[in-house]
Amino acid sequence: MNTQRQVLVVDDQEINRKILIKILESDYDVITAENGEEALSILHSVGEGISAILLDIMMPILDGYGVLEVLAKDAFLSRIPVLVTSQKDGEDSELKALNFGASDFVSKPYNADILKKRLNNLIVMHEATTTVNILKRDVLTGLYSKEAFMHMVDLRLKREMNKKYDIVALDIVNFKLVNDTYGVEEGNKLLGYLADKLEIITKKKHNLCARVYADQFLLFMERTESYLECMVDDIESSMIAYPVDMKLHVKFGIYNVDDINVNVNAMCDRAVMAVKSIKSDFNKQYAYYDDSFREKMLVEQEITNDIDLALKDNQFKVYLQPKYNILEGKLAGAEALVRWIHPEKGFMNPGQFISILEKNGFITDLDIYVWNKTCEYIARWIKTGKKYVPVSVNVSRKDVYKQNLPEILMDIVTAHGLLPKHLHLEITESAYTENQEQLLSVVEKLKEQGFIIEMDDFGSGYSSLNMLSEFPIDILKLDMKFIQNSGSNIKNRSIMSSVIDLAKKIDLSVVAEGVEEQSQVTMLKGMGCDMVQGYYFAKPLTEEEFRNRLMSEPVII
Ligand code: C2E
Ligand code: CA
Ligand code: CA
Repeated sequence: MNTQRQVLVVDDQEINRKILIKILESDYDVITAENGEEALSILHSVGEGISAILLDIMMPILDGYGVLEVLAKDAFLSRIPVLVTSQKDGEDSELKALNFGASDFVSKPYNADILKKRLNNLIVMHEATTTVNILKRDVLTGLYSKEAFMHMVDLRLKREMNKKYDIVALDIVNFKLVNDTYGVEEGNKLLGYLADKLEIITKKKHNLCARVYADQFLLFMERTESYLECMVDDIESSMIAYPVDMKLHVKFGIYNVDDINVNVNAMCDRAVMAVKSIKSDFNKQYAYYDDSFREKMLVEQEITNDIDLALKDNQFKVYLQPKYNILEGKLAGAEALVRWIHPEKGFMNPGQFISILEKNGFITDLDIYVWNKTCEYIARWIKTGKKYVPVSVNVSRKDVYKQNLPEILMDIVTAHGLLPKHLHLEITESAYTENQEQLLSVVEKLKEQGFIIEMDDFGSGYSSLNMLSEFPIDILKLDMKFIQNSGSNIKNRSIMSSVIDLAKKIDLSVVAEGVEEQSQVTMLKGMGCDMVQGYYFAKPLTEEEFRNRLMSEPVII
């Protein structure tokens, strides 16, 4: 693990600096300065990261004693141990240096082994006796702890007011899944790997990095041109290179430090808030904090607080949007879409709460509620009207991580006296790219049980065409964007047409959603699409409205 300590070598003679680098470079990250003034300027900008100073006494501009004098007055820098490296010219100078605050003395010419031993002893003793240092490093990764990080950021902001900085919070998407699937040890390995990359990135420019807990990291970065894009690319490719059977992504939340009077802890919280805000947003890799966040977080909190009661109180209503067979124009199915009739907030569309529930884990409770309600409807139609169409329910990508999903779904259909074929399961495309192995095993099981699997939102994310043959799906649901952009965009139209062709070749049915116009229906018919869903046919309807259609219209299954 790349957690080499940094030492600062201060000597005006190039040859001396070279000798010291040669002795130390295998154990330390060595920085050099040619005189006292340069040393102080380095210490003032990155002093917090330095474990020890090797200081020559006789130097032009500002000598070793001068440096020691300045250090003694700085509450933080005075804690860094100093090993004086001078020509032996009597015990007086040695004593003088010690009086000025030096910790120890080695004289030229150097004995490499003695010098290394002394330096090591000094650092180890210093770190063991300073409580600040005990808290300073995260044991697992060797990065700074949050406390040490905040302290250093505070000092740096006060000292270097002429520069612009950002606090960046990082988060590994689905880190918990790595832990759950491969074990904590593998999870720790991944954290160490990322920590090493971050350390290399930050050290180059004297920036800082810390691990807060679990997979949450914080960086303090000087805001230079396009540093963010470079870093995001750099880390993204490191994650792709990581040898594990899962797509790993890192997300970033950025807080621009424009007002140094904001407390550093609050700055860190804001960076974390920014990264959390895009946790389940598949298309965003980074987000900046702005003041609207506070408001958003409050709303999220309210929704989280209300969900339990809402489920018990039947505040959720399941609407049904018809699907039509395109060739015969007959009703052929429906999609169950949830709405929340909130006692204070009123009618809420899923866009207002699904992603929040996915983030805090309540989505499965809601989905189970929706699956139950849907089965209740179908069972009633069969019983009272002797007629039904299969209904597709949405399966959140979070549900897929439940090992017992097949049992849960099977129990629900049998409890209502139905068969798995009565339900279609819409699994969103992004779930297929996140954790293919886990998903494959769950989907295979669901299919064996007789459920019909639809890949939802196809074309909206990173999926590839060969995924279609790898996953045992039955139906492909083209993302709405395809249809909505098809009018003006010829390229889009031809892509859509070849996707439909390919799907047919491997025996998949194709559903197009978001169909709003007659012209789109005609186009889709020409391309060989099987089913259509959209406002052109009907908006999502209440169960009663849908039942009326079902009972009065011809149906094809
Ligand atoms: P989705 O699964 O892609 O569902 C289709 C969305 O498109 C629905 O939005 C539907 O009302 C809307 N839509 C249908 N036809 C048209 C059209 O012609 N034009 C346009 N512009 N939109 C159309 P809705 O109901 O707001 O749901 C949004 C998303 O919320 C769904 O997207 C789905 O991802 C999620 N969702 C809805 N209900 C549930 C649920 O019970 N569980 C889970 N996990 N997610 C759900
Ligand atoms: Ca859907
Ligand atoms: Ca969809």
